[in-house]
Amino acid sequence: MTISLPTIPLKNGRRIPAMGLGTWQMGERQEAEREEIESLRRAIDLGMTVIDTAEMYGEGRSEMMVAKAIADRRDDVFLVSKIYPWNASFGGTIAACEASLRRLGTDRLDLYLLHWRGPELLADTVAAFEQLNTDGKIGGWGVSNFDTDDMEELYTVPDGDKCLVNQLLYNLSRRGIEYDLLPWCRDHDVAVMAYSPIEQGRLLQHPGLIDMAKAHQATPAQIALAFLLKQDGVMPIPKTANVERVAENRAAAELELTEADRRVLDALFPPPITKMPLDML
Ligand code: NDP
Repeated sequence: MTISLPTIPLKNGRRIPAMGLGTWQMGERQEAEREEIESLRRAIDLGMTVIDTAEMYGEGRSEMMVAKAIADRRDDVFLVSKIYPWNASFGGTIAACEASLRRLGTDRLDLYLLHWRGPELLADTVAAFEQLNTDGKIGGWGVSNFDTDDMEELYTVPDGDKCLVNQLLYNLSRRGIEYDLLPWCRDHDVAVMAYSPIEQGRLLQHPGLIDMAKAHQATPAQIALAFLLKQDGVMPIPKTANVERVAENRAAAELELTEADRRVLDALFPPPITKMPLDML
């Protein structure tokens, strides 16, 4: 029997599944589109209903591919997109969101993120996010690639504390955020979306992960995802355009890592003992 995915709470009252699907590098090749759409639909069937895209991905082509995958099931999906920092003035944010909605073939995003910090004033971006929220065009907003000092600054602007999510590079080989940013986000009820949760595939060759996977009759990707699923307030968003791997990644939620496993993982991938600069891809 498949166990339901755990959920994580957002501070706007919604709960979302603790694992979603990334779509970077999807929508870019016509010949891959059929399998990409099938993978997204399979993920939704399996309860991975959070879909992460961005205006950046394929300059809108990822959003257009997502539109095809969710056309007849928009209400089943928690849809996330992101705005380029240089579009994030007050008016630019409204316009960029409307362009994303058109490409996605929908009237609302569930979550809209500032992709990384840029030249525009945070106060203007937040004011535009709040306007979009009032107008029903987004269900909430957040940020991405914000370090602890960025979050503290965000919280000084009006409504900055309404930030629901910080989307961050986080996986076994990138644990720097555990030192202060992850605790900060937990203290402020900001959920962490872990991007590149299997380090874009590079983690999967790690001999220690391969050994642990064998012991669990699992795969290295499942161990890497299970590690993240165990962290409070963290949701990984692995990307795969392969239908079998969607099911494989989903099954990570069924994997029980023991305390002994966790000690081995800490030895293989030591947690930070000091503040580290925020990693990004
Ligand atoms: P991931 O760590 O999710 O790795 C994706 C790669 O791993 C793909 O090449 C995929 O190939 C492969 N893969 C996935 N599952 C498996 C598996 N079970 N076994 C073997 N290979 C596998 O990297 P991403 O960088 O794509 O991160 C995930 C998502 O996070 C992005 O798609 C994007 O939505 C978001 N992101 C956000 C960023 C930000 O700045 N906010 C930056 C980077 C990513 P295949 O498709 O062939 O299966």
